[in-house]
Amino acid sequence: MTLLDINGLKTYYRADDGWVRATDDASLSIERGETVGLVGESGSGKTTLAKSIIRLLPDNAEIRDGSIEFEGTEVTDLSDRELRKQIRWSEISMIPQNAMNGFDPVYTVGEQIVEVVTYHENDTSKAEARERARDLFDDLGIDPDRVDDYPHQFSGGMAQRAMIALALSLSPSLVLADEPTTALDVVIQDRILDTIKEMQTEINSAMIMVTHDMSVVSETCDRIAVVYGGRIVEIADAETIITNPRHPYTLGLRNAFPDISDDDQELISIPGTPPDLVDPGEGCRFAPRCPFAREECWKATPETESYGNGHRVKCHRADEIDYLQEEAGKKST
Ligand code: ATP
Repeated sequence: MTLLDINGLKTYYRADDGWVRATDDASLSIERGETVGLVGESGSGKTTLAKSIIRLLPDNAEIRDGSIEFEGTEVTDLSDRELRKQIRWSEISMIPQNAMNGFDPVYTVGEQIVEVVTYHENDTSKAEARERARDLFDDLGIDPDRVDDYPHQFSGGMAQRAMIALALSLSPSLVLADEPTTALDVVIQDRILDTIKEMQTEINSAMIMVTHDMSVVSETCDRIAVVYGGRIVEIADAETIITNPRHPYTLGLRNAFPDISDDDQELISIPGTPPDLVDPGEGCRFAPRCPFAREECWKATPETESYGNGHRVKCHRADEIDYLQEEAGKKST
């Protein structure tokens, strides 16, 4: 059953030189319990899309258009208070990029978890909420007595775990994990990803995993949405995105992570920089960097075409991708 249905979402930021079209006509739906990766380079709009869902956006952001339907409720129609009371943390929670910034430095981590739990659960006492925080710490491999510590007493890895505890404390239906491990060293990264997956399975929540790392999504996600220039340019199950992508940008992204690439496939490289989202111009936003761009790509925004089993691609030349790759291979040999 569909848990979250985003349609035609546009979230823009006001900037000195105009509006930054950070999320521009994005559509995505999430089923109960599934994990969907949002992958793309830095600045492609992944965080903006994730934060729009629970409106944890900065003051200069504006949701311009589109709908975000969560279990039948139109989230964009809710007041801030309704959103806080009905959805944020209890139904949809977020593990931010840098956990330290997610905690208030003046309160202990335990107090903050107790505050969130008792705000949403009228029948839960402070003592019970504190016990839950201690149990979650234990599950996440932190000494339960450390619920009485202040955020600055935690290492980066521990703060990230404590944030996971907070994000899961109300067993939400959806967790938004925004680069949950990039600030950490590699060994801890793997352990934390495993922990997130285990806990997610335990409470049977869905998850949106935001990352620039194709190997992370290939290991942890059921489906992958590839984001470029504020748009979802390709979406499919993880296996299809890794082994049989149709968008040239996805081919290039995969190329940046050789350990997941198929040796037989021609590697496509994508030099250049992402588009200026204040004035992205007409046409496909990837055209300036695309080895296969032709005239129409510069002129018209491609429609999103379906290739079966939920595989959707926004590229004028998606039908020809195998041939184009083969030709590219011939030229490079
Ligand atoms: P990263 O991995 O670096 O977080 P991202 O793919 O998550 O990147 P966003 O952070 O969503 O991308 O940013 C999308 C675009 O919006 C970028 O061009 C970015 O510069 C711009 N942007 C983000 N936050 C703001 C803001 N508060 N004001 C203006 N522009 C912003």
